[in-house]
Amino acid sequence: MSQYDDIEYQLDTLAIRTGHTRSFEGEHAEPIFLTSSFTYANAAEAAAKFSGQVAGNIYSRFTNPTVAMFEKRLAALEGAERVVATSSGMAAIMAVCMSFLKTGDHVVCSRAVFGSTVALFEKYICKFGIAVDFVDLTDLCAWEAAIRPETKLLFLESPSNPLNEVADIRALADLAHAHQALLAIDNTLCTPILQKPLALGADLVVYSATKYLDGQGRTLGGAVAGSDKLLEDVFGYVRTTGPSMSPFNAWVVLKGLETLRLRMREHCANAEKVAEWLKQHPKVEHVYYAGFEDHPTHALAVVQQQGFGGIVSFKVYGGREQAWTIIDQTQMISITGNLGDAKSTITHPATTTHGKLSDEAKQRVGIDEGLIRLSVGLEDFNDIIRDLARGLDLI
Ligand SMILES: *Cc1c(COP(=O)(O)O)cnc(C)c1O
Repeated sequence: MSQYDDIEYQLDTLAIRTGHTRSFEGEHAEPIFLTSSFTYANAAEAAAKFSGQVAGNIYSRFTNPTVAMFEKRLAALEGAERVVATSSGMAAIMAVCMSFLKTGDHVVCSRAVFGSTVALFEKYICKFGIAVDFVDLTDLCAWEAAIRPETKLLFLESPSNPLNEVADIRALADLAHAHQALLAIDNTLCTPILQKPLALGADLVVYSATKYLDGQGRTLGGAVAGSDKLLEDVFGYVRTTGPSMSPFNAWVVLKGLETLRLRMREHCANAEKVAEWLKQHPKVEHVYYAGFEDHPTHALAVVQQQGFGGIVSFKVYGGREQAWTIIDQTQMISITGNLGDAKSTITHPATTTHGKLSDEAKQRVGIDEGLIRLSVGLEDFNDIIRDLARGLDLI
C-alpha cells in the first residue's frame, strides 16, 4: 500500500511513516476520510467488492482508509500481524470477550484491572454464562490454581494501576498455552514503546488509545493487536456489531503515534524525578514506583519493560484528609481520573477510580485512604514538584 510498510525501517521511522496512503491530491499529512460509505464505478465492481472477490472499502463500520492507517501504524510499533481499532478501550476488551468466549467458558483475570473492566466481567459477561475468577496479579500459583478445564482466557494489566506491580508475562503465556487458553494483556500503561507483550508470548494486546497513544486527552479510542488468525475474528465481531473507531478519532491517535516514543521517554524521565523527590519527602510514607529497588516487582520490570512508565503513586502519612489537602492545593496539575496525558493529572483512588470497591476489596488491592496517584505529564519537572510541595508543606 505504501513504501513505508516495510519492516526494514527502524521503529522511529515506522511510527511516523507506516500506513500513510496519499489520495490523488498528493497531500502531505494523512487525510481524514469522513465518509460513511464508498462508491463504485459500476454494478459489477460493487458486486465484486461486496462478495470479497476484490478488496476495497464498502462502509466505514467495516473499513475506512484513515482507520486503516492507524491500525497499520500501531501494528508496526507492536510487532503485530494485525490491529483492529475500536471506539474505546472498553470496546476493545468487549471485542476480545465476544470474539473468543461462549457460554460455559471461564476467565481468569487479575484483580488490579481498570474499574470498568471488572464491571464488564462481573455485570455483563457473567450474564452470558461465562464465569470469571479474579486473582492477585503477581501470584503465579494463584493463576495456576484458578485455571479449570473450561478456562479460555487469561486477562491482565501489567503494570497494575495505581501500584505499578508487574506480572511475569512470559510465565503466564506458558501457563495459558499449557491449558489451551489465550493470554490477553491490557498494555495501555506501557504502550508498545515500553513493552511488547506479543513478543513475550501473549496472544492478544488491548489498548485504550484514549491514554498515551493519543497523549493529549482529545479523544476516545481503542485497539486489539495480535495474529491475523485471531484478529480476523475480532474484525468480524467489530464490523458486525459496530464498535468501530471513527475516522476523525483514528486521525487524532494516528498523529499521536508519531510522537509516542519521544513522549514516553519524557514521561518516564519526569516520573523518575518526581518519584525520587517524593521518596525523600518527610511527609511521604511510601512511593509505588517500579524503578525503585525496594518495589516488589522491580527486578521483573527491569527485564520485561523498556522503562518504568509515567504513573507514580504515593502514600502520605495520615489518610484521606491529608491526601485531599495535597490534591486541593495543586494549581497546575489537573484533578481528574484520566491518565497518559501531556498534562500531569492527580487523583485519590480510594474515593474516585476505586470508590465503588468495598473496604475489604480496597485493602486487598492496596488502595489506602492516604494514597495519591499521579500521571506525570510533560511539564517542567520543577513546576510539577512545586505544585505538590504546596500541599505537602501544609499537612
Ligand atoms: C482507560 C483505560 C481503559 C478503558 O479505556 P476507554 O478508552 O476509557 O474505554 C482500559 N484499561 C486501562 C488500563 C485504562 O487506563
